[in-house]
Amino acid sequence: MRQLRHWWRKNLARASNRENMASFTLQGIPVSRGIAIGRAHLLHPAALEVQHYLVAQEKVEAEVQRLQNALLDAERELQKIRSELPADAPPELAAFLDVHSLFLTDPMLAHAPLEIIRSRHYNAEWALVTQIDVLLVQFEEIEDDYLRERKADIEQVADRILKLLIGTATSLPQSTGVDELNTHMIVVAHDISPADMMQFQNSAFVGFITDEGGRSSHTAIVSRSLGIPAVVGTGNASHLIKQDDWLVIDSEAGVVIVAPQQIILEEYREKQTVLHRIYKKLAKLKKTLAITKDGTAITLLANIELPEHATAAGEVGACGVGLFRSEFLFMGRNGSLPSEEEQFIAYKKTVQAMKGRPVTIRTLDVGADKPVDDIDTSTLNPALGLRAIRYCLTEPQLFLTQLRAILRASAFGKVNILIPMLSHSFEIDQTLAMLEQAKRQLRLHDIAFDNHIKVGAMIEVPAAALCLPMFVQKMDFLSIGTNDLIQYTLAIDRTDYAVAHLYDDVHPAILQLLAMTVQTANKAGIPVAICGGMAGDIKLTRLLLGMGFRELSMPPAQLLEVKQEVMNIDLSTCAMTIKKILRSYDSVTIAEGIRALQLL
Ligand code: PEP
Ligand code: MG
Repeated sequence: MRQLRHWWRKNLARASNRENMASFTLQGIPVSRGIAIGRAHLLHPAALEVQHYLVAQEKVEAEVQRLQNALLDAERELQKIRSELPADAPPELAAFLDVHSLFLTDPMLAHAPLEIIRSRHYNAEWALVTQIDVLLVQFEEIEDDYLRERKADIEQVADRILKLLIGTATSLPQSTGVDELNTHMIVVAHDISPADMMQFQNSAFVGFITDEGGRSSHTAIVSRSLGIPAVVGTGNASHLIKQDDWLVIDSEAGVVIVAPQQIILEEYREKQTVLHRIYKKLAKLKKTLAITKDGTAITLLANIELPEHATAAGEVGACGVGLFRSEFLFMGRNGSLPSEEEQFIAYKKTVQAMKGRPVTIRTLDVGADKPVDDIDTSTLNPALGLRAIRYCLTEPQLFLTQLRAILRASAFGKVNILIPMLSHSFEIDQTLAMLEQAKRQLRLHDIAFDNHIKVGAMIEVPAAALCLPMFVQKMDFLSIGTNDLIQYTLAIDRTDYAVAHLYDDVHPAILQLLAMTVQTANKAGIPVAICGGMAGDIKLTRLLLGMGFRELSMPPAQLLEVKQEVMNIDLSTCAMTIKKILRSYDSVTIAEGIRALQLL
């Protein structure tokens, strides 16, 4: 049998190298980095293999029992995967496994099909698929993108149960991920559950392609954490790609090349080798200081969303956390808010993980594209609505709770507080007054905190950038949120695909606001950082440093590349070109100037 398979694959290899083999390209959503080259291993959803028949009355209870056993086996399978998670597995994986376990006990998923068997005499698989279809329709109607994407979890749990019912114990083949010809395998599927992805990592499959999925789907999140090249949302890759087809995944471009010609394959092999060399070289910079050629020290910080991400920040040698987006602690909790204790534990964990390096915690930036379940953000124009600090000031108890939790964590390491979306002087005053109130409350109970904790303002509304003296007088530091500053200055919704082409981070208006902010802060002697997307873009590093910025905060994955760029810059040679860029109101001149900076 093994010999037969070997022969089969060898001949297929020859076949796929045929000159006339039609090559084609699929475009999907890029969710991670890197290039993967290998042969397709197709995974078919079990639902496609489901039989439909009616069960005789006397066999109904046995059929019910068959489904119950499959549910128990599915739970055992999940527990086993969970208990075998390696110590360095991304923490969200365990959470995803828990969500799948929860679904297995949910009445809508686990009990309703049993009732369908009893009332309609459907066989177990048919009953399960019938109920799953009902649930999927309900999920489809949910407006929240994140929750709607959880429908993929339901499909994955159903797939696991169905495979057990049909008799295929695991959804992924027990393979090393390398076939008999020693070529790597790429999984192609309608969708892949995060639990299966964990096995997929262990079996050394080199990439995956799915029909389903979006940027915030679990599979996308896990692929980023595991660093596996992947393209999701291809629509119909699992129908177009055949078993054993040669595939190339260029995950940064979101492109899949099916049956590539030999010359293309060679080209990507070379690109892959270059990329590996680059990553290896970058990793060596972890402990190197970010100092420009002319001796200017730059502070590179990490943006994180959860305490667990502090590990990644440490791994790339970040000088601290420049932005902890605390709202992620408030999301996906089915209406409950994190208590003071819960928040305190999360902040303390982050502070301790950063081992003495500062952690800047941003207070709840809720609203617009970051809704929290039980907080009503249904305004006409959410980006301009009751967002961030505006919301917190209308909910004093919620805000005080968060401030107390942050203050308590400040007793365990260096903590700064960052306030999002400030634009009015009275908002600054009210915020500082509430911070004093939170401090008084802690003092009353003899609870320790850093009495000199620094408070900073995010500059992300043009009004703030135009009234900087108001901020530098009252705040200890500034941090520019370029994502929102661009959105509000250029009047384009950052989530609206239709105006995405107008999103321009080097629009002269943005450059003017950045220049004004850094100059005013430097004159006043208060630190100013950039924590929006511009900070991690190596094409802009020279420009930003030349403008006077010395602190940049970005996702950990971008930090080493930026550090390398910093080390290649001689600021004295950039001055003239930067002056020219800042004097210009013409986008072509600005673009030329930025290109010229790269060549210096
Ligand atoms: C920003 O607006 O640039 C920022 C860093 O905050 P967020 O992306 O979380 O809105
Ligand atoms: Mg923002």
